[in-house]
Formats: sequence, C-alpha cells, structure tokens
Amino acid sequence: MYDIIIIGGGIGGSAAALRGAQNGLNTLWILGSKKTRKRSRSQWVMNLDNIVGFHEDVIKNQAIKTLKKYKQTDAVEILENEHYHINNRMLIQNTIQRIENGFSNVTILEGEVSILTKSEDGFSIQIGEEIIEGKSVVLSTGVMDEQPHIQKQNRKGEWEDTPKWIYPFANREQVLYCIRCEGHLTEDESVAVIGHSNVAAELAMMLHERYENQVTILSNGAAPKISENRLEILEKYGIEIISDPITGLVSEGVKQLHGFEFENLKPINVKFALVSLGLHRVYNDLAREVNARLMDENQPEEKRHVWINHKGETSVKGLFAVGDMTKREDEPVMKQVYTAQEYAVRAVDTIDTRRRKKLRASILSS
Ligand SMILES: Cc1cc2nc3c(=O)[nH]c(=O)nc-3n(C[C@H](O)[C@H](O)[C@H](O)COP(=O)(O)OP(=O)(O)OC[C@H]3O[C@@H](n4cnc5c(N)ncnc54)[C@H](O)[C@@H]3O)c2cc1C
Repeated sequence: MYDIIIIGGGIGGSAAALRGAQNGLNTLWILGSKKTRKRSRSQWVMNLDNIVGFHEDVIKNQAIKTLKKYKQTDAVEILENEHYHINNRMLIQNTIQRIENGFSNVTILEGEVSILTKSEDGFSIQIGEEIIEGKSVVLSTGVMDEQPHIQKQNRKGEWEDTPKWIYPFANREQVLYCIRCEGHLTEDESVAVIGHSNVAAELAMMLHERYENQVTILSNGAAPKISENRLEILEKYGIEIISDPITGLVSEGVKQLHGFEFENLKPINVKFALVSLGLHRVYNDLAREVNARLMDENQPEEKRHVWINHKGETSVKGLFAVGDMTKREDEPVMKQVYTAQEYAVRAVDTIDTRRRKKLRASILSS
C-alpha cells in the first residue's frame, strides 16, 4: 500500500510528486495518458514569465559565466542572443527526470485512472486492469477552457464552425487565456476580449486600467449579459461591444493575428485576443465517484470545482485535490502554476504530518 497516490502529470501533480519524494513518502505518481494530456491545460502553456525565478536568464547567466571563464567568446554571443521559452511541459519533464534520478521511493506510471473508491484503510484506484491501493490520494486532474467557435470558410470554401482557427495564434501567445499570466504582454496594444459575461467586462476594464489598451468586447453572436454599472464604465472607457458572430480572422497566415472579420461590419484590428468564456470542463470525475463535495451549485456537474479546505483536503478524509480543479469557499479562485504548487505542498505535508504522528503514537504504545 502506498502512503500516497498522486493522480495527474501536470503542474500540481509534479509539485506533489516532488514533495512526496523529498518527504520520503512511499509515493505512486500517475501521469495520465496521451488523451488526458491533450485535453489538459498545462499542455498548451507555451511560455511562463509571471513567476519569480522561472526565467531563462537564471540559467543563461550561469552558463555565460562559465563560458566567459573558458574564453568561449563566440559561444557567449550565441547564448546571449538566444531566447529560451520555459513552458509547462519542460517543468514536468524535468520533475520526472529529477525524481527518476534521485528518489527510489517514487514509482511513476503512465496511464489514465478510471476508477477511485474509498476502502477501509484508504483508497483504491484502477488504471488499465490494475487495482492499486494507497492510504491517501492527491488529485490534480485539471480543467479545460471553453473555446470560441468561429464559423469560417476552409481552403475548400466549405464553412466550418470550430475553435481550431484560433489554436495557431494561441500557440504564439496572441490569443490568451489568463490575465494574471499573460495580461502584461498586451501593454499599450489593441485587444479583443472574446466573451459576453460580467467576467469578460471585468477583464476588458482591467486591461484598460492596467495597460491603457484599446479594448473591444466580442460576444461572437451571444447576447451580452453585462450589468448596468459595468456597461456604464465600459462606455466611459470607450470599450465597444460587438455582438455579431466572428466570421474570419485577419492574419498573416498563421503567424500573426491582426484582427477579426464579421459578415455585416468592418473588420477590427487587434494584436491580441483574450478568451473569457469560462470552463468547458472540470475533470472532477474521480472526486465525484467518492461523493466529494463540489462548489458552483448553479453549474452542471462536469463544470463544478472540487471543494477543498486550507490544506487542500476535500470533504472525503484522506482525499486531497490541488490545482485548477479546486475552489475554496473563503478565497477567490486562483489558477496559476504557483498556486497549484503551493496547494500540492500543503496537501503532501499534511499527509506526511499525519503519517509521522501515527508512527510516534505506535512507538509510544509499543
Ligand atoms: C494558455 C494558458 C497559458 C497559461 N499560462 C500560464 C502562465 O504563464 N503562468 C501561470 O502561472 N499559469 C499559466 N496558466 C495556468 C496553468 O497552466 C495552470 O494553472 C496549471 O497547469 C494547473 O495545473 P493542474 O495540475 O491543476 O492541471 P494541469 O497542469 O492541466 O494537469 C492535469 C493533468 O491531469 C492529467 N489527468 C487528467 N485526468 C486524469 C486521469 N483520469 N488519470 C490520470 N491523469 C489524469 C492530465 O494528463 C494532466 O497531466 C496558463 C493556462 C493556459 C490555458
């Protein structure tokens, strides 16, 4: 029986696995499958630059120092001019490598967990045909954002209503999803916020207030549901709402986004778009199987976050959940790399504290 089973090979799972490894816990880390990775958020993060310390210059400066020491002038110049993106996949791969090279107390498995059940001493999970038992479980199975569907003609002249048109620009950080992660990239530029809710209005106002952007809200055919006082501020900021469906993208191939087209309106020019359509899915299936409490009562079950307390524990004792899939009652939702990591550490340290308490009690009673 493992001390801890970690489900999810994204950011929260990586941080939990490293903590489990470094705390000396008998740990099983399940990474997920090709299918679960493809539908996870972390797969699509191309460049992290909102986190202290996660920056290319940290390593670059060290490398340059070494090269200078050995008088490798050409190499220094090449390195100085190179740009290294740091993305989630690299962080996860590096965590796997560090654990594989340094910790024999962690087993890493590839695959999707299909069933989670509560047992007398803890939990059992099913992965493929195998059943595995653990005293505690940490879930970090993530969420996926709702994507804007755009009805646009393909190369054959057929109309296709799909979000795939914007993916190349999302990969180039021109279509964005997270204001706290990427908002600063838009400074002084024109931005379209794709959405129709009060949240979309808040983001549009925030962009204007923080970065003095020229902002337009595109509701893409949906009726805007924005409160009166927000509408008043949008008007004062000169933020227009366009309700017509988007029918095309203005771009240089798939390299650079320049704007959006509409059937009966002039195209608008923007350098960035920020998607604000809420979540398509919270991967809460395993939590639901053991009847863990969910938040967001007014949402369908598959979009509800998993309730956690300040330690990252769900309403089921011994079952922890961390990262984007979770929500606390007393705090606004935080969906960043560093918040997933923080809660992963809180959860694993709680599991470790309980294990050591039991150990001490058994020593005293023997
Ligand atoms: C476009 C974009 C850009 C972003 N940029 C930044 C940024 O610059 N800075 C920042 O701080 N944050 C950024 N974020 C947010 C950040 O990526 C997330 O907060 C973080 O990835 C959340 O980690 P997680 O562990 O909750 O989920 P994820 O990292 O998405 O991981 C979920 C994991 O669970 C696995 N899984 C799912 N179901 C199962 C199952 N049944 N069995 C086994 N495994 C399963 C998946 O394979 C995946 O590995 C960005 C998000 C997006 C969408």
